[in-house]
Amino acid sequence: MPSENNLRISFLAVGNGDCALIQFNSGQYSILVDSGPSRSTVAQRTVSQLKQLLPNSKPVDLAILTHHDDDHIGGFLEFFRSNDIPIHQALFNSPALLAALLANDDPQEISVKQARLLQDMKAPCNTHVICSGETIKVFGGKAELRILTPWKRDILQYGRSILEELTPPQPISVKKPFRRIDEVLSGVDTFEQDSSKSNLLSISFILNYIGRSWLFLADAWPSRVVRALKTIDASNSPEFALTKIAHHGSQGNTDKQLAELLRCSDFVVPAAGGRHPDEQVFGRIVAGTGNRRARFHFPEKTPDLARLTAESDFCFQFPDNGRMLDFYYDDIEK
Ligand SMILES: [Zn+2]
Repeated sequence: MPSENNLRISFLAVGNGDCALIQFNSGQYSILVDSGPSRSTVAQRTVSQLKQLLPNSKPVDLAILTHHDDDHIGGFLEFFRSNDIPIHQALFNSPALLAALLANDDPQEISVKQARLLQDMKAPCNTHVICSGETIKVFGGKAELRILTPWKRDILQYGRSILEELTPPQPISVKKPFRRIDEVLSGVDTFEQDSSKSNLLSISFILNYIGRSWLFLADAWPSRVVRALKTIDASNSPEFALTKIAHHGSQGNTDKQLAELLRCSDFVVPAAGGRHPDEQVFGRIVAGTGNRRARFHFPEKTPDLARLTAESDFCFQFPDNGRMLDFYYDDIEK
């Protein structure tokens, strides 16, 4: 008999962007982590997919807006405009909260346009800035979110710059096809940490539910995630049923140290193959976990990804045609 305690995590194909719907116990409770971008064709498709996923047009119980970038929160604008995806509650370190923490009384300085628009969303939000070290109970206390990032000291140091930061459009280069595992592992690997302050202040977290854990890294910086995981347990990182790797598989967001802490076999890479991901990330994870068969799951087999992954022997996984990238955990027992 299937357990009454189950979890379904669906990753929607939103290009180089994040959107994951977590449903507990066949939809009794749901968490939406990010929305994908605002681009209307993508956002409209996201709305219709979410409507199909949520049983009987049930509202999303909790939306998490991990950070201020369009590929994570832009779609929410469409959700609010269309009124099609009602949201009960939200976690968002909005510009207003950051400005209050930084004692910045002049909202005119806030130039993060979409994040500012989202402040007017119709769902009640957290009234303090969410920081590393917090544990947030969800699903009536049956599950919890352990917040890994942002660190409060980073907000105090860099919060102002993200209130003024506008991420410039990044050029999309044509990537070379990914090489084979041995070539990647024996090649030169230079790591250069991400420099985006908006990414630095991402809300990343561990979801704990009845003795199991899932890791959602948003676009966080690896040094900050490592520090948080070591704060939880210096000698032993938890085992994760699934890891949503950071920043669409960008090389600056998964370093060797982090990879060594990822006790996990299944990794989700929310990328379309244009700008992201980087093959070094797969190499670091295979080396760090000591598992050549670590699985890298993509939400959609785009033409770019088909070309990039064709000759490589990393374990790349794609959903069957027309299917969504879905993970079911129905073996969760008390
Ligand atoms: Zn992103």
